[in-house]
Amino acid sequence: MINKLFQKLEAGYEEMVDIRRYLHKHPELSFQEINTAGYIKKYYEDLGIEVRGNVGGNGVVAKIYGVKPGKTIALRADFDALPIQDEKDVPYKSLVPGVMHACGHDGHTATLLVLAKALHELRDELQGTYVMIHQHAEEYAPGGAISMIEDGCLEGVDAIFGTHLWATEPTGVIQYRKGPIMAAADRFEITIKGQGGHGAQPHKTKDAIVTASQLVINLQQIVSRKVNPVDSAVVTVGSFLSENAFNIIADKATLIGTVRTFNEDTRTSIEKEIQRIVKGTCLTTDTEYEFEYFRGYPAVVNHEEETDFLIECVQDLPEPIELEESEPQMTGEDFSYYLQHVKGTFFFTGAKPEGVATAYPHHHPKFDINEKAMLIAAKTLGIAALKY
Ligand code: MN
Repeated sequence: MINKLFQKLEAGYEEMVDIRRYLHKHPELSFQEINTAGYIKKYYEDLGIEVRGNVGGNGVVAKIYGVKPGKTIALRADFDALPIQDEKDVPYKSLVPGVMHACGHDGHTATLLVLAKALHELRDELQGTYVMIHQHAEEYAPGGAISMIEDGCLEGVDAIFGTHLWATEPTGVIQYRKGPIMAAADRFEITIKGQGGHGAQPHKTKDAIVTASQLVINLQQIVSRKVNPVDSAVVTVGSFLSENAFNIIADKATLIGTVRTFNEDTRTSIEKEIQRIVKGTCLTTDTEYEFEYFRGYPAVVNHEEETDFLIECVQDLPEPIELEESEPQMTGEDFSYYLQHVKGTFFFTGAKPEGVATAYPHHHPKFDINEKAMLIAAKTLGIAALKY
């Protein structure tokens, strides 16, 4: 059975490339993926596979029923693009100015569509149900996962598997991790409100720049003094805004930054610490403040058993695949929400283009993948779905 699936995937590789290149030429931004969703839905309709569109927005969910009873396994691929101008010189370059598949979600979609077709062709021998979750809007919080889950995409699902093609890791490598693999990604904004005035008369003012400067330094103590050293976290101030003439004392200064964490308690305590430090710093300088904290995606936390299971599956692949334990990544992914509801695991499929020493990173205008990695991803997801 597994060999039959692999044969079908090998035979479907060219189609996978065609689909990926078509999508690459026609990218759409998060929450605007009308045509991509239509393309995916039509693919299933043409094959006579049960499919539902507009799931929690632009999401598409297809179901393949094996003739024998068994578990229900979900596989997920996202399909949105990014606001980046494609600077590659390839025939499949984006035709949409300022929009580009710079994260490989086109490849995720092509992988899942061809895998679904292969499973459908084998349905007379299959056990259980296979749920293909094509998710819109991964790149832009609040993301598409929450609304798709609310709209029932996980109903009856026993386990979920997902992968990200990872262009900076060599093709032929699969990276797994038990527990947290990607971080929670939050944003904060602090505005210090002082009292402006003449640069020569500081005693008649409340300098917002001096307060904000102290605050940047004080915030550094959170990770170094408040977070358990064996836990990981980042507090970064990425933006410091206050524009005045050289002889004016600032009335206002704004700091914008990000917080990355792997566990919810640390996340909550950092939010409180920031607020406390802002309050304290402003008290010492007699200034006012506004503080806002925006929660992004929670950490992607892989389930242990399903990750062990994935490792076994990879060892059963016909071609030699190098299995590596991934470092926890400080980047975010809304696959986290699925794993809060059902068991499963999210892994990286190395997709570094051939013949390059260093690949362009994700979200770069020249980002590209090795398309052969799609076949590895399809086989890995396929074997996991069949064997679970
Ligand atoms: Mn991505």
